[in-house]
Parts: sequence; structure tokens; C-alpha cells
Amino acid sequence: MRHITVIMKPTSECNLRCRYCYHASTNYEVGVMTAEVLDAIISKVQSEYNDIMYVWHGGEPLLCGLDFLRKALQLEHKYIRDPMRIRNCIQTNGTLLSQEVLQFCLENRISVTVSLDGPGDLNCCRQQTDQVEMNLDKARNSGIPISMLSVINRYNVNHMIDIYRYAQDKGIPLKMNPVFKMNATDHEDYLVDSSIYIINFQNLFDYWLHDPKATANVEPIMQFLRMYFEKRGTECIYGSCLYHWISFMHDGSIYPCGRTYPLKYQLGNITEVSSIQQVFETGVYRELTIASILRRQHCAEVCDYFGICNGGCNSSCLADGDLTTPNTENCKIFQGCYKYVCAKLDDLRRAPAVATENAVILGMLHKFALTVD
Ligand code: SF4
Ligand code: SF4
Ligand code: SF4
Repeated sequence: MRHITVIMKPTSECNLRCRYCYHASTNYEVGVMTAEVLDAIISKVQSEYNDIMYVWHGGEPLLCGLDFLRKALQLEHKYIRDPMRIRNCIQTNGTLLSQEVLQFCLENRISVTVSLDGPGDLNCCRQQTDQVEMNLDKARNSGIPISMLSVINRYNVNHMIDIYRYAQDKGIPLKMNPVFKMNATDHEDYLVDSSIYIINFQNLFDYWLHDPKATANVEPIMQFLRMYFEKRGTECIYGSCLYHWISFMHDGSIYPCGRTYPLKYQLGNITEVSSIQQVFETGVYRELTIASILRRQHCAEVCDYFGICNGGCNSSCLADGDLTTPNTENCKIFQGCYKYVCAKLDDLRRAPAVATENAVILGMLHKFALTVD
């Protein structure tokens, strides 16, 4: 099947003003995707791909209203071909999760990821914490597949274990991402030093390792486990996103993925191209690809982890100044965390039964038939 992840940004408007938001750089540009643009995107995507993940992103996508989402699903249905797998996920700030929205998601098998950086003050870079926590509970009880996305920043980095326990106690899958730096933002005081992130990740990993109730619902821990056991990463960052990811802004303009890019990396407008393939054949996309290959060649020469990491994220490298050079802070974080996980797992393989009660780890050791070296 031909797979693509489509980041739909039907609006850049938002009812929150998070301190680290990269939409601040474009002042939360006003406007909502029209039916014409929506039709152009869905018809073209579905005529060329048959395994599609639509991620409804923003701004805040639920500001567009349920009628907008109904229209989108109608179009997905209209342009369906056989065989085809279509999935929809809403990435939301969680403030607008009414019963009606939850019911709609339930009926249409839409998964929802709620951004919340932890309970109470740990969410201080964001807003309306009480409302979002309440809505997260409502969503959890509604039966839809939900997950929680926490951005790890200077103000919550020392509480990664608390964030983990909060999600774990509620039975909600959790993904933690270190906050990333974008060129255009004025709000730099939230950035977290890589060494501090690494120490806190290590503490979290030790905690998880000895948590008898640990589940496989926590990232990036599972990411590192997949790398260790299966020798592969599944996040876009650890496999090339090129030719598999694309993003559309509300006016139909096209970018390589959902992060912000300088205007120079705009890949045209969906109303003016004949196909997605044509987008990937533009000079700008070729330039992006060549720069990414050069960076990966460099990584292959200098980095012991290239076989697992694959050369990192284009957008982060660009934000650091140069697509052909790895983003060194990200490299430090990846290497510091992964190296620690590997050392711990190597130790465990020598005495798994006595060293951990963690059923996830024991299951993986068994599955991959790994014992003493
Ligand atoms: S909810 Fe998302 S889009 Fe809105 S301000 Fe926060 S980070 Fe930005
Ligand atoms: S540029 Fe980075 S964030 Fe965007 S899809 Fe690629 S790896 Fe992911
Ligand atoms: S860790 Fe850094 S240097 Fe190593 S492969 Fe990844 S991006 Fe390249």
C-alpha cells in the first residue's frame, strides 16, 4: 500500500496562547480552509495513496466546527477507492472537547490527542489547565481512543515522572517530546538544556523499569525499546519523512510537514498542482532532499548511531541554521537517552527475572529470545 501522513491545518487560529507556540511567529493568521481547498486536497491525496493518516492539526482544528469535520469525512468517503485504509486523528488543545465532539469522534472512529504538559502548574506554558484536565477525563470516559501529548520544557522537565504517573493512573497513552526551538519565536525562556533533559529521562526510565504496573503506553520509552530490540525507530524523526509526509495550510499552501518552515520551502498550492507527485518533483523539494542526503552522508561518517537514528529531523536542522548539518542539541538528547537505555537493557539481559518485574521488558526479552550475551 502507498502510505502518506497528511498534516491538515484547517486554521492557524487558536483560542490559546501557549508560550512556546510557533504560530506566534505568523500571529495566528486568520482564516479557515474552504470547501474547495478541502476537496482539492482529499481528491488528490486519495487518488494517489491508499494508506492515509489525516492528522487534523492547527492552530486549534476544533475552532473550525463539527460541520467542517463532517464535510471532510464526506469527501474522504466520496473519494474512497478499494483497497484503502484511511485514519483520522485530531490533535487538539483540549478546550473544545464537548460531548457532541466526542460523540462525533466515537461514531467516526477518530482518535484524539490532547496537548497537556502535566497536571496543574506543570502545564504553566499553556492555558485553561482545569478545563483541559476535565475534558481529558470526559474524553477518556467516552470510549474514543485518546492520548496525551506533553511538551517537556524548562518548567516541567524535573517532573517527568509525575507526568508519567498522571497519565498512567488515568490509563491514557502518553507521549513526551522535548520542546523544540523554532527560529521565529520570541519566547526562548522555556527551552530546556539537553543535559537536564537527559538526566530526567534517565530517572523516568529507571522509574518505569521498576514499575510493576508499567505499560507499553509511554513514549519515548517504547521508541528506544523498539530501537534496541527491533533495530528500528518508528517516529518520523528516525526514518526519513521525505515523500511520506506533507502538510496543508488553510489557504491550500503546501509544506513538507506540520512544523513551520521559511516561505522559501513552500511547495506550491494544492489548487494549482495537478498531483501530490508533482509537489514532490518541485525544485524546492529536490533541494530539501539533496540537503537531507548530504546530512545523512555526514552522519554515516561521524556517528555510531546512524544505523538507528537515520540522520534526524529536517525541520529541526533548518531551525538550527543548516539542513546539511545535524541539530547538535537533538543529537545530544538522542544519544544520551538511547545510550542509557541500551546499557540498562544490556544489564537486564544478564539477570532479567531478578532485576525487574516490568512485564513489558520481560515480554520483549522473551519475544526476541534475548538472554545473556
Ligand atoms: S494550543 Fe497549540 S496552536 Fe494553540 S497556542 Fe497552544 S501550541 Fe499554539
Ligand atoms: S521534518 Fe521532522 S518533524 Fe517534520 S515530518 Fe520530518 S522528521 Fe518529522
Ligand atoms: S544522532 Fe545526530 S549525528 Fe548521529 S545520526 Fe542522528 S542526527 Fe546524525
